[in-house]
Amino acid sequence: MPVDPKQIRAKDKVVVDGIELTSEWNRMFDQRPVFDYGIDVLEKIAEIPGAESIAWCYQCAQCVPVCPVNEVGDYGPRKIYRRLQFGIDLLTDDELWKCTTCMNCLRVCPKDVNMINIMPAVREEAVMEGHVPAELQEVFENTFEYGNPLGESPRKRADWAKDAGVPVPIMKEKKEADILWFVECYPSYHPRGKETSVALAKVLNALNVDFGILGTEEKCSCDSQRLAGERGLFEEFAEENIKTFSKYKFNKILVTDPHALNAFKKEYPKLGGEYDVVHYTTFLAPLMDKLEFKNTLNYKVTFHDPCYLGRHNGEYDAPRQIINSLPGVELVEMWRCRQNSFCCGGGGGGMWLDGFMADHVKERLSENRVKEAVETGADVLVVCCPYEISRFEDAVKSTGNEGKLIVKDIIELVVEAMGV
Ligand code: SF4
Ligand code: SF4
Repeated sequence: MPVDPKQIRAKDKVVVDGIELTSEWNRMFDQRPVFDYGIDVLEKIAEIPGAESIAWCYQCAQCVPVCPVNEVGDYGPRKIYRRLQFGIDLLTDDELWKCTTCMNCLRVCPKDVNMINIMPAVREEAVMEGHVPAELQEVFENTFEYGNPLGESPRKRADWAKDAGVPVPIMKEKKEADILWFVECYPSYHPRGKETSVALAKVLNALNVDFGILGTEEKCSCDSQRLAGERGLFEEFAEENIKTFSKYKFNKILVTDPHALNAFKKEYPKLGGEYDVVHYTTFLAPLMDKLEFKNTLNYKVTFHDPCYLGRHNGEYDAPRQIINSLPGVELVEMWRCRQNSFCCGGGGGGMWLDGFMADHVKERLSENRVKEAVETGADVLVVCCPYEISRFEDAVKSTGNEGKLIVKDIIELVVEAMGV
């Protein structure tokens, strides 16, 4: 028999289908928030070219436990879809900026709801309407003005090479080389990034690789700015880089940064720039037996798979081959590794949104990951993406794990074993 809950008084004992409805149930019912439920906003977002697949969600919830942002907050495509049904407008809401485009939800989604397309498409609209977090806006302006998100002088882009202690040829002088090394912004300017660039230059020299860098002619690949909604900036910079590449003769582009790898493999071809491009771990893994190692390292290490090298571009083995070839190094895996690796929080513009995210999550993704690395008993957290080294070094400090764990780029381990 139908029961009208409003007619039940708090002290009444009501039994429906054998279930006793308590006064607590009654109280909860009365205090339940009332939502306007509809599909107007959902339809508006799904009409944005690239964002169509948000409407394909059938609420199976497989994406929620694998979403790193849900691990430290309350997120995931399923929840975004639901909030859109409740009238939350993604174009103006903070929900839009939390996704790191890590791709773990797409890996498990049976309906191919694709946040890697949805996020940049909706963010582009939001950017055009002026809804963009201030710290991200500053990065867009820096990139536009200086050619890099750090706001550093473009004239200093190759200064790290002067102190490398080994030759780092510039393409402008060399004109042709087997390998064009695209260094990218963080490895050109950030103090820890510059150290990894010097280390890679030493290894390339030890292997007698015929290479050159663009130096001051190089500009940001801009993939993270694209994913953060600045497609116009991305296209402008891609066209400039493609023009610069066309001045020189080379066989392959070597990249330090998995985000540049992603841009050159998947986005530059759409603008006419087709290249044979390789990440430095993929390039070096088959060459490790050509290097001479003088030192035994005695490290227990764990390896963090970068989202844009692993899930986005399918490379999981090369970094592990390099680690396993180093004398005295024992590799232990974190439980979230390879396809199910956890995001450092830097992708999709997250690199520049730590302040914004602090208001929305209980801990940074990098902190969550560092704790997992410490649990393995490793002394060293090994990385191979320029965003990670600074993020994880900060997280080691903020989680009180100084002295327990150090963070090294894989190429730093190689030169340490070489003793150069
Ligand atoms: S896995 Fe896909 S279909 Fe399932 S809830 Fe998540 S987005 Fe929706
Ligand atoms: S791409 Fe990553 S961060 Fe974004 S919703 Fe999917 S799992 Fe979460």
